[in-house]
Amino acid sequence: MKVYKISVLGPQGSGKGTQSALLTSKLNIPAISMGQLFRDEVEQKGKYADEVEKIMNKGEMVPERISKVLLVNRLSRDDVKNGYIIDGFPRNMEQYEYFHRDIDEFTHVIVINLSDEKAIERISGRRICSECGKVYHMVYYPPQYDEICDECGKKLEIRDDDKPEVIKRRLEVYHTYTEPVIEKYREEGILYEVDGDQSIEDVHRDIMKIFTD
Ligand code: AMP
Repeated sequence: MKVYKISVLGPQGSGKGTQSALLTSKLNIPAISMGQLFRDEVEQKGKYADEVEKIMNKGEMVPERISKVLLVNRLSRDDVKNGYIIDGFPRNMEQYEYFHRDIDEFTHVIVINLSDEKAIERISGRRICSECGKVYHMVYYPPQYDEICDECGKKLEIRDDDKPEVIKRRLEVYHTYTEPVIEKYREEGILYEVDGDQSIEDVHRDIMKIFTD
């Protein structure tokens, strides 16, 4: 059996989380969201909760000493033995370096490209259920009843880091720190780029081509 170790990168709003979730069921390997690991840390009031929450609410990058511990912990679980998909990592050169030096190697790095304009348009419509965490989009994937979760009937919320000023900062961080990482993978020959300005199904189809060709 082929082992896939996949990193999914792309600006905020490019659909990294959505595409990783679709890919996980096709390839039968778990999807790990770096952003979700941090949100869980905050929710579960872990050791780094306060620090992480403050940083995320500003749209800044969580420091390496924290991302490394949380990631190593997650990758020590049995379910990643046959491979995994990580979305939102590595987001800067420091993470790239410690990951490949101390942790593991990727077989594929997928980048979902999207313009800043589109990214802002998409993120500002994003809503999340305060109860079960299900993600909606008021234009592209609306709930059945306005601002109410289809699954549990709770009110939908805007993530603190999806507020407009924070979105701008997150996109700046992406261009400055993540693009150099993407360049590295391009040089290494394991980078696969897909156009994120398409429907969820079409982006998924393009991603699946990488694994069937
Ligand atoms: P995401 O859900 O991927 O959009 O990430 C949400 C937020 O989590 C980001 O704005 C950062 O504050 C933080 N974050 C996610 N991934 C990383 C990472 N690899 N390194 C540092 N911070 C991250």
